[in-house]
Amino acid sequence: MTIIEDYVSSRSEIKSYLASALSENFEKQKVNTSLVDEVKSLILSQDICLVSHYYVDPLIQKITEDTGGFVGDSLEMARFGASRDSRNLIVCGVSFMGETAKILSPEKLVWMPTLEATCSLDLGCSEKEFKKFCDSNPGRTVVVYANTSAAVKAMADWVVTSSMAVDLVEYLTTRNESIIWAPDRYLGRYVKNLTGADMLIWDGACVVHEEFRINDLEQIKKLWPEAGLLVHPESPEEMIQVADAVGSTSQLILAAEKLPHNTFIVATDKGIFYKMQQKVPSKRLIAAPTRGEGGTCQSCAHCPWMSMNNLDRLKNLLINWPIYCQVKVNSELARKALIPLQRMLNF
Ligand code: SF4
Repeated sequence: MTIIEDYVSSRSEIKSYLASALSENFEKQKVNTSLVDEVKSLILSQDICLVSHYYVDPLIQKITEDTGGFVGDSLEMARFGASRDSRNLIVCGVSFMGETAKILSPEKLVWMPTLEATCSLDLGCSEKEFKKFCDSNPGRTVVVYANTSAAVKAMADWVVTSSMAVDLVEYLTTRNESIIWAPDRYLGRYVKNLTGADMLIWDGACVVHEEFRINDLEQIKKLWPEAGLLVHPESPEEMIQVADAVGSTSQLILAAEKLPHNTFIVATDKGIFYKMQQKVPSKRLIAAPTRGEGGTCQSCAHCPWMSMNNLDRLKNLLINWPIYCQVKVNSELARKALIPLQRMLNF
């Protein structure tokens, strides 16, 4: 099978993936319907606000919307959760998102379907190693990405999301501040290239975005030459250089709406297709190529930790409220981490 044939066949997989993600086909999934209904009624009958990330299972995203919750990026999720009165805030995402929600809503009970859902960026930037890095490079402003633990955030001057990283670093550059950046090296280099800032960059990466490959992209472009390319800045520079839009999850969804293309190749987690397709129902969305199934691909455009948020775990949480699903952040750590988080929110 040629690479092109391979992608033609993966195109049908993409279509079936989309079919399961799209709301109009949702009711046809008999196998899941009763479980979905049960989960929805468990949410609606209790004092709960559910927030979910764009990368979790489309079924969970739909349940979130149908029960008055919110689907978005990590910052938007935490903000929405903080703005609601519900006693219980359930976060479907990864652990740093649960921690951020708890820090911004300390009075609430914050829960996750599993606390074991983590992130390669968070895992690759331990408190101990990062402290050593900061201590050996004193005098620099410490800027950390939202994808870090509360302990790492507590050491930072600023927390950023990918949507405002360039603006913040530009601002710091006008103040002649030199920067320590952590943990994603691709996003760090992207920001450094755009701003010319003096940045020392931690060597972390996202297992999903790091996998996107330019060579196979060229093969896909032969099939859909008119397609626009949407790239998350945690991806390799070669992908960023040929993108029609580079941005955070929310920015990429907006770009799909604003750009004139009828077809997009999307270089971020496939979970985003659910919300993106809602916004552009008549446009075709294609997953950007990774190293490929059966290759050395670690993620194949879907985060292994995001996928741990499944319906069975969510149902278990809603029935049993197990203590091992409750997010707790040490109050002193939360106090320190809130300072750079609050700066970000005020920026
Ligand atoms: Fe972390 Fe990447 Fe998964 Fe997002 S997609 S949670 S950055 S590993």
